[in-house]
Amino acid sequence: MSPRNVKRLFIGSLAAVFLAITMQNGFGDAWLSQYTYALAPAAGSDSEVMQPITPAPNSAKPQVVQQPDKALPPKPQPLSKRIVEYHINVSLREDGQHLDGVQDVTWTNPGKKPVSELYFHLYPNAFQSQKTTFMTESHGMLRSDKATPNSNSHLKLLTLQTLEGESLLPRLQYSQPDDGNTSDYTLARLRLPEELEPGKSITLRMGFEVKLPEIFARMGYSGDFIMAGQWFPKIAVYETAGTRGRTSEGWNVHQYHGNSEFYSDFGMYNVRIQVPEAYTVAATGFQTKPVAVQNGMHVYQFYAEDVHDFAWAASPNFVYAETAYSDKGIPGVRIKLYLDPAHAELKDRYMHAAKSALSNYAKWYGSYPYNTLSIVVPPKGANGAGGMEYPTLVTAFAADSDNPGYELERTVVHEIGHQYWYGMVASNEFEEAWLDEGFTSYAEDKVMAAAYGITPNLRLEASYMTDPAPLKQPSWAYHNSNQYAENVYMRAKLVLVDIENKVGVKMMNRILRTYFQKYKFKHPATTDFQRVVEQVTKANWTEYFNQYVYSNRMADFSVDAIEVKPVNQEGDKQYESTILIKRNGGTTGPIPILLKFTDGSTRTKVWSGDESHIQYTEVSPAPLEWVSVDPEQTNVLDNKLINNFMLAELPNDTRTRWNLGVSNLIKGLLGAFGW
Ligand SMILES: [Zn+2]
Repeated sequence: MSPRNVKRLFIGSLAAVFLAITMQNGFGDAWLSQYTYALAPAAGSDSEVMQPITPAPNSAKPQVVQQPDKALPPKPQPLSKRIVEYHINVSLREDGQHLDGVQDVTWTNPGKKPVSELYFHLYPNAFQSQKTTFMTESHGMLRSDKATPNSNSHLKLLTLQTLEGESLLPRLQYSQPDDGNTSDYTLARLRLPEELEPGKSITLRMGFEVKLPEIFARMGYSGDFIMAGQWFPKIAVYETAGTRGRTSEGWNVHQYHGNSEFYSDFGMYNVRIQVPEAYTVAATGFQTKPVAVQNGMHVYQFYAEDVHDFAWAASPNFVYAETAYSDKGIPGVRIKLYLDPAHAELKDRYMHAAKSALSNYAKWYGSYPYNTLSIVVPPKGANGAGGMEYPTLVTAFAADSDNPGYELERTVVHEIGHQYWYGMVASNEFEEAWLDEGFTSYAEDKVMAAAYGITPNLRLEASYMTDPAPLKQPSWAYHNSNQYAENVYMRAKLVLVDIENKVGVKMMNRILRTYFQKYKFKHPATTDFQRVVEQVTKANWTEYFNQYVYSNRMADFSVDAIEVKPVNQEGDKQYESTILIKRNGGTTGPIPILLKFTDGSTRTKVWSGDESHIQYTEVSPAPLEWVSVDPEQTNVLDNKLINNFMLAELPNDTRTRWNLGVSNLIKGLLGAFGW
């Protein structure tokens, strides 16, 4: 999911203060320019093999120009262990608020033991009442989007049968393993009539009805726009021994929580989607047949393999455009835009962002192996569906403004990053959200810098870390959505940048590429990432991970006291300075300390930072003027910049902390305003 609004939560209040201050200091324009789209991106001169289809500007009429995609030649072998296979037939009712679905789902036991029960996620039940776990935890808010009185929804299982027609519905029970909340129906357990042996498959036929919510928390309708995310009964992940450090195999099941995203297994999806004739459909995977018209309905047929979810969107208003694109690591992809008409003129910006993201990620981490990538732009007011990732389909932020700033590109770049860190490297978002959000935020910054020259102010971001928490813990263990976001997006990213600062950019790229290559189409855990870091760097990172990943440490250093007194040395007047430096957080390796004297001379000390504090006594011909710890500000885990500097005022003997004025704070943060 996109951190844009998440960041805004943190940044908003500080930003207002800083804006006021910077206006006074003449930096007001610098601030504003961050939110002005100054330069149109260069037209793609890269390996386009097909001209984009030019949409009629601001056309409210749909352009149904999608054609079936040329299937790539069959892959010599599947990219993933295909544990699940879905054949779904779904239709959108004329009211635009209900889905009627039938699915045949086949699940293969990947373990070494017989399995006697299956689990299904029924995510739309999260908004069934105010008493669900999602609603009680989130208070009806996700990011800055609020549930409306019409945001109730449900997924009702109407039938559940074996292929022989035996009804298994009476064997289904709702399950609440996390909190015992009996008003929560987002997870169901099916006791199988007989055990399923290892390697054997079971196919179930399920009929279901979904009442969509008015857009909230990633799904629903807004006017005639539909976002079908997490919309069908989805089988949970059965983790084999060894997966994510498990010693014995078993289901990994959780309810739908206010702060949690998802986790599911790889497989194949064959999905037939019927919508009223006016609608155009965007979906995961590719179209295998031309759009048919049957009884006043449009019928779409989509197919996807080696993916772990399937999402679709529909609207009568989409303005459609596509480009075929290939590059190193991208054998050939059709980038498909489903634009809100208000953004029809911004087509080139979306395309440029998508190509920049794909080409960089493919170059850095590995191939994008799918032949489509769809980008859906929700209409104004439908932001609840925006900024979200699904396999081969992402949603941009809603078309609220006709002149958006770089948040347009940033959101596209972020969500495409999730094709790698979530889509292919399929971490468990319930339990280790930093592995998708932190990695994606890190990668997003790299693309924004490479493609648009926008670099983050990491020191400023570090200063928002007011409530650090362990990165590896269930998403619902964070006390609230702010703490969740602060940690799994921002602190996680800063930890990755800190690792990069320690090992160098080249080595960090090697770490991430190795991690991607080793764990694509698998479910790695934090320990797997640590092992890759250790293998690539040939060093032990236990202490580092224990402090910054498994615990909530930051790495704050402070100049705690300065005392300067005149001394006589063989008749010469000299000054003796005593300086106390403290480590208030975790260890992070040697830390430089700069001493500046009134005659302009400087001395640099390097402290190991291993002890809790260190005291220096220096004799100098001129009085000490100030002391700065980490003067180059390279320690991105130092969340209190304000205590890194102390002025030694004369003539008092005992120095008190320099009261850091606002203008000096700004000076310290110069280069700011670029996150
Ligand atoms: Zn995200």
